Amino acid sequence: MNKNPYEVLGVARDASDADIKKAYHKLVMKYHPDRNPDDKSAEEKFKEVNNAFDILKDPQKRAAYDRFGDAAFAGGNASGAGFGGNPFGNGAFHFDMGGAGGMEDILREAMRGFGFGGFGGPSGGRNANAQRAGRDLLDEVVIDLKDAFFGKTHTVKFSSNVQCEKCHGYGTADGKAAPVCPKCGGAGVVHARQGFFAVEQPCPECNGLGHKIDKKCSECDGSGVQHKHRTIEVKIPAGVEDGTRLRLAGQGEAGLSGGPAGDFYLDIRVRPDKRFVRQGADLIMRMDVPFTTLTLGGEIEVETIDDKKLSVKVPSGTQVGEKLRVRGHGMPSGRRSGTFGDLYIDVAVRVPTKLTDKQKKILAEFAETKSDKKGWF
Ligand SMILES: [Zn+2]
Ligand SMILES: [Zn+2]
Repeated sequence: MNKNPYEVLGVARDASDADIKKAYHKLVMKYHPDRNPDDKSAEEKFKEVNNAFDILKDPQKRAAYDRFGDAAFAGGNASGAGFGGNPFGNGAFHFDMGGAGGMEDILREAMRGFGFGGFGGPSGGRNANAQRAGRDLLDEVVIDLKDAFFGKTHTVKFSSNVQCEKCHGYGTADGKAAPVCPKCGGAGVVHARQGFFAVEQPCPECNGLGHKIDKKCSECDGSGVQHKHRTIEVKIPAGVEDGTRLRLAGQGEAGLSGGPAGDFYLDIRVRPDKRFVRQGADLIMRMDVPFTTLTLGGEIEVETIDDKKLSVKVPSGTQVGEKLRVRGHGMPSGRRSGTFGDLYIDVAVRVPTKLTDKQKKILAEFAETKSDKKGWF
């Protein structure tokens, strides 16, 4: 997955564009393939530096990274890691993050399966690979618009495989890495001849693990993982939009036999609000205004999303359907922290139905003053 672009370029979080450019040029010269022929690690660094610069040179991408971290680019980048292996069988199936709508359901189901002990424990798929990466886990939370305004800490409780504490994931009694299996050389599979065909089989010596554990860890019976109840606190950033997917790297299921842990994803849904309609960082609010205020001008009191009471000027002659703009009282905009979208008041009117005799009389007198034949004033 992506490394922190600030760390890759060795610049501070608040580095200026010029500083970022300078750091980039220095590093890109250092790791350029022409200068480091056949050096794999330099090639890797070169790519990292370019990826980091790609994010930090673009104000929008940089802002997105600042707010959401890697999750901002999850759609584009996470497919490389794929949504992990299939715990039910030997084959690994991969999902394309951008695509298939069915993916979420499958994973949510898988996750629930964990909670109720749905699959037969880590030994179930032991023969699959010598090492296996932990699965990614996905959950969804529905929050109110107000929570999206302030940001919120969401607690997820579930159970999943975690690395065994006693043996540090090695599955050995002494908690150290087990020696590589001499028969398969660590591959976990051996090739045998059956008639004319060479077939691949799980290594009988190490049972497909790739290494030989002489004395198993008593805590996890050699699997290196334990099934545990877990609690994750996810910080949902202020201004989060409906449909955002947050990623917590390495918080998914533990890998088997020392394989890397999966990631934890949280999909954020924002519940439609009764009062406000959101358009990007702006909020729109429909509001009845007395027709006398619209005609003569005046002020109305407006309650904002963060429960502030504001007095808003209504110019005389304001029409129904006009939008009064209240600057800075929309959602956190995310371009820079501390900046907000605007609030628009969508002006409506309610025709009064309970007038006193005096009010009726005044209105009737007013009606007499109409200035043209069609009844307009
Ligand atoms: Zn253990
Ligand atoms: Zn073996």
